[in-house]
Order: sequence, then C-alpha cells, then structure tokens
Amino acid sequence: MPHTLLLAEPRGFCAGVVRAIDALDRLLNQVEEPVYVFHEIVHNRYVVDGFRSRGAVFIDDISEAPDGALVVFSAHGVDPAIIKNAEQRELKVIDATCPLVTKVHLEARKAAKDGYKILLVGHDGHDEVQGTKGEAPDRTSVVDSAQDVLAINEPEAPVFVVTQTTLSVEDTLGTIEAIKGRFPDAEIRNDICYATTNRQQAVKEMAERADLVIVVGSTNSSNSVRLVEVAKSMGVRAQLVDGLTDIDPNWYTDSDIVGLTAGASVPDELLDPIIEDLKIRGVENIEAVVVAEETVEFRLPLELSGNAE
Ligand code: SF4
Repeated sequence: MPHTLLLAEPRGFCAGVVRAIDALDRLLNQVEEPVYVFHEIVHNRYVVDGFRSRGAVFIDDISEAPDGALVVFSAHGVDPAIIKNAEQRELKVIDATCPLVTKVHLEARKAAKDGYKILLVGHDGHDEVQGTKGEAPDRTSVVDSAQDVLAINEPEAPVFVVTQTTLSVEDTLGTIEAIKGRFPDAEIRNDICYATTNRQQAVKEMAERADLVIVVGSTNSSNSVRLVEVAKSMGVRAQLVDGLTDIDPNWYTDSDIVGLTAGASVPDELLDPIIEDLKIRGVENIEAVVVAEETVEFRLPLELSGNAE
C-alpha cells in the first residue's frame, strides 16, 4: 500500500478555465433570464453539473437558443459561422473563449487571408478544433499524427501550421517534424498552451518516481487524457478518474508511491477526498513535485468586467 503521495504542481485550473467559470458564475448571479451555454463551459462533468443545477442550459446546437437569448460561448472557442448566426438572431453573447484559443483563431484567419493552406494539428471533432477550422474550412486540413501528414495531398499554396492548445507536447513535436520533412518551407506555430505544457512536465517528473499516477479529469477533457498518456509513455500505470468514487482500491496494491494530478478544467476540491482517503490508507508522506509557478491571469469578458467593478 502507498506510503508516499506526490502532488503535481501546477495541476488543475488554468487561467482560461478560471475566466470561463467566473464569467458564467457571475452571469448566473446577476441575471434573471435563462443563460444558455454553447458547449460545455469547460470539459469537466462536476463543473458542468454544478452549473446545470444552478439553471444554466447547455446546448450543442446554437438553434436551441431562442432568438434574442443570452448565450455564453465556452472556453474552447467557436466557429465564426456560429458567431454570425448569433448576430443575425440578435443573441446576447458573452464570449468566454480562452484568449489563447482566440490567438490560434487569429493566426488561422490571417494565414487564410494571406493565401496559405492551413494544417491544423489536433483531434478532429474536438470543440476547439471545430472552432479553429471554421476560420477557413476550405483551406484547412486537420492532422492528428505524423501518419496523417503523409496522407495530405500536395497543396498548391504555401503551408501554415497551427495547433490545438491541449495536445501532447511530445507527439506534437513528432507531427511537426513530419510536416517539416514534407513541407520544408512551412510556417509553423506551436500553440500548445503554458498550462498544458506545465501539467505534462509535472506528470513526467512524478512518473519518474511513482508506481501509479492518478489523473483527475473527465474523459472528454483533452488535456486530462494527455496527462494519462504521458505517464503511461514513461512505463507507469495511470488512471483517469472523475473523482474518488471512480478509484478502485486494488490499484494501490504494490504501489508504494502514488502521483496525483488534475487536468486544467478540474477544481482542486475533487482532489481533497482522494488525498484524505490515501491518508487513511497509510500515506504519511506528501510531497509536491513543482515544475513551474503559474501567474497567468485573464480579464473577464468585457461585458462582465464592466459590471464587475
Ligand atoms: Fe486556455 Fe490552455 Fe486553459 Fe485551454 S488549457 S483554457 S488554452 S489556458
């Protein structure tokens, strides 16, 4: 049974998630009318269920919001076609897109305007990738791996590369190398964000010592799933859980040292019961594995920061 618990630092909430959650929280406190949220505000079941219980209405199709309704766009960003639809239907939009996702949209938009063919490295179907691709759907191909790069038809235009923000740092380097090999003149932006990078680095350091790594996060959270993959890639057993009740105590057998971390959309309060449970099971030694100090903060969406002062 475990005697030592390693806690990754940083772990859990990033600045983009804090901003999106604060925005929705303030709206629910301030307005009487229904608040529609296009896509999960962040990819975490506990957070989404909490907001749903307070009255937020989560929708996956913008047509589900009545004309003129108040709609929040999630942290993952949206396809410009959705924004246009919202304008035409006079929806009152609060855009909680993470500024680091907006930056990728702007890169893609400019590249398309400048005549580039865009390769978007990311997981097809993910909310963020759908949104970014929407900047220039006819000029964009999504590539998920080095294999995908080989399958791309020779483009007639110069190539511009952007990435999803929450990818595996190492896998993405491999994909970018494959792109450089095929298109040596490609303009490349690696948009993996600071939070994703730091959380993966912390897991790597934990995995050097741990027998088991537990990652708190939901299965649709890209950055949480990547943390599990990073630990496994280092030969360590790793499990993704939404919280304590998902943990099978048998996992702790033959695990002297357990590492614990959480994806960027996970509140720390979900880790507390796991830590308490491990203490009851005999963990006496708790150590932080610190790889970075995060000081990034983003301002609330304009409409709300005005109200907030
Ligand atoms: Fe923004 Fe990165 Fe957090 Fe996504 S994981 S919301 S890109 S800071």
